[in-house]
Amino acid sequence: MATNRKLRKISDSTIHRLSIYYRALLALEKEGYDTISSKELAKREKLTPAQVRKDLSFFGSFGTRGLGYPVKQLMQEIAEILGINRAWNVALIGVGNVGSALVSYKEFAKQGFVIRLIFDNDQRKIGSNHKGIIVSDVADMASLIPEHNISIAVITVPGSAAQKVCDGVIESGVRAILNFAPVNLRVPNDVFLRNENMAIELEHLSFSLRNQEPMIAE
Ligand code: ATP
Repeated sequence: MATNRKLRKISDSTIHRLSIYYRALLALEKEGYDTISSKELAKREKLTPAQVRKDLSFFGSFGTRGLGYPVKQLMQEIAEILGINRAWNVALIGVGNVGSALVSYKEFAKQGFVIRLIFDNDQRKIGSNHKGIIVSDVADMASLIPEHNISIAVITVPGSAAQKVCDGVIESGVRAILNFAPVNLRVPNDVFLRNENMAIELEHLSFSLRNQEPMIAE
């Protein structure tokens, strides 16, 4: 197992590939595989075997030459590296259309991301029940977030309200934020921020489709 200091240097793209390997290994385990070679894993995920070997060798010597990687063990090691071999308490702020959909999405809890608190500032929503969770007043974040041991905040308020909400969750002690609002949030260096912007993803797809079309001479 690699040291924490070493793990801190892993690039975002490697972390992304670890998540991809983890999902591939979950599927392989279900299909009954005990071991998998770097070549097979690379083929499934459209990567090169050298890339897979390089990524995995960084974390210790998992593989056995000729036999490949033990699926279960590799899965457990990656889960430990990603910190998903445990549950994380999550708070969601803004239970509008996007927020409600995320609260209803069962996969998060299955993967250990458990929504414990929901906040909103709309008096009509405060006190309502969403999948068994009573919506709290956003004004109570500072006391409820530490009380419920929340590690991750999911922000699903409109862009205009996002920075203020973000500052509030940080003041409450949260150091990891997933932001769905279409704005660039400012956070201190010791806070981890990920942005989920579907419009940007769709633009990427639109670019890919657009550039597959035959060029029209001007
Ligand atoms: P709906 O129409 O149900 O409100 P929506 O997704 O269109 O859904 P948005 O305007 O995007 O609504 O707001 C998302 C949610 O964020 C709403 O529930 C809204 O009440 C809440 N919200 C807005 N501002 C804040 C704030 N400052 N703090 C907490 N929640 C907020």
